[in-house]
Amino acid sequence: MATTFPLPPGSTIGILGGGQLGRMLALAAARLGLDVVILTPDEGSPASRVARRTLVAAYDDPDALAALARAADVVTYEFENVPVRAVEALTALGAQVAPGADALRVAQDRVKEKTFLNAAGAPTVDFAQIDSAADIVAALSRTGLPALLKTRREGYDGKGQAWIRDATQAAAAFGTVGGVPSVLEARADFRRELSIIAARGRGGEVAFYPLSENVHEGGVLRTTLAPAEVTPAVRDEAERIARAVLGRLDYVGVMGIELFDLGEAGLLVNEIAPRVHNTGHWTQDGCEVDQFELHIRAVAGWPLGDTTPMVKVEMTNLLGDEVDAWLAIAAEPNARLHLYGKGEPRPGRKMGHVNRVKAR
Ligand code: AMP
Repeated sequence: MATTFPLPPGSTIGILGGGQLGRMLALAAARLGLDVVILTPDEGSPASRVARRTLVAAYDDPDALAALARAADVVTYEFENVPVRAVEALTALGAQVAPGADALRVAQDRVKEKTFLNAAGAPTVDFAQIDSAADIVAALSRTGLPALLKTRREGYDGKGQAWIRDATQAAAAFGTVGGVPSVLEARADFRRELSIIAARGRGGEVAFYPLSENVHEGGVLRTTLAPAEVTPAVRDEAERIARAVLGRLDYVGVMGIELFDLGEAGLLVNEIAPRVHNTGHWTQDGCEVDQFELHIRAVAGWPLGDTTPMVKVEMTNLLGDEVDAWLAIAAEPNARLHLYGKGEPRPGRKMGHVNRVKAR
């Protein structure tokens, strides 16, 4: 039977991926009376610990996809490296998948992503496609120095990246990123990093949270402060970009858009994430409706809900053994601890986060 929206309470949301984002989506779904079934290759994943049901299988396992299509009224995903063919297979089985395959295709490949963004009127750094070390030398005339070499696919949290400070480093940098198809990016001379979390509903309506200011260390998000202090012009430009990107993808759900704030020279888009986003975790304790609930509402065809901020929040990621401070954080006033139920605190692993209310 064809799915009709809005999905009533008691319906089932399928999620591809079992990480902390899936976990927080499942918790939000539960609050709205919706059940969740997770498909993940990992036993005992953070999301499966709070979900009604888990299918443990590869993302492209035909039997698991068929079971997911049967069980779920709508399917979504919690990370952008889910194989596009899994989404295509689900769609062929008659499942409703949101966001769709186009958003995944664009977000999985940094060259496609920047090409798409520029065509949508969203400016990025100058860039060039790199297929060999020799391409880098030619591309440097376009990007200038220093430039950042990134793998086209499967890079996240600063992995698969190498800075090039002079042309003699080209071959070594190509080796560092694994000699795979890559993109060379001009260095963004940013004053700070911002992001906008936006959502689009099934009727094409859009919602935005206020921008957040983000601090990265070694390519990994450390802290987010939100709402960020921004001029109305910066806010309007970020919302213009988000509206254009969401509309062009006929997107349904929440998207995170990472921005470089160049000051007088405006905003550039670093990358888009077709999912809930680490820089949106502050909304859990800062807004009427948080990004996880907003995403569930969007894919279930509900009203998007109210994104108004209530307080100013600083979100800090708990990486690796920083999570050992859980007891002290739990005793802090104005702090809310979010732990992901992960066993082993390997260095740099995202184990949880804390939202500290800064101003009411
Ligand atoms: P990414 O994995 O592409 O999000 O990059 C991780 C972090 O590296 C970003 O949040 C920035 O802090 C930094 N970064 C990425 N691309 C550039 C660039 N073209 N210029 C300067 N810094 C960058």
